[in-house]
Amino acid sequence: MYLVFRCNCGRAVYSKEGVIRKSCVCGEVLKVKEMKILHKAENVLSASEIIRKLQEEKYGSGYLTTADKLR
Ligand SMILES: [Zn+2]
Repeated sequence: MYLVFRCNCGRAVYSKEGVIRKSCVCGEVLKVKEMKILHKAENVLSASEIIRKLQEEKYGSGYLTTADKLR
């Protein structure tokens, strides 16, 4: 099982259940047990799908646009 939660920077991140610490891309190290769990997922694939949706909710669908599409 994978847990999905939000870092203080606003990014949604996931970690495998039972993992103590998870580092976010912003550099913050999160204590998984202290995080408010937003979702649970069966596997990495659905966890990343949930994260994609959470990011779109927060930043809009343009957030994950790749750099080449910005030109
Ligand atoms: Zn972060």
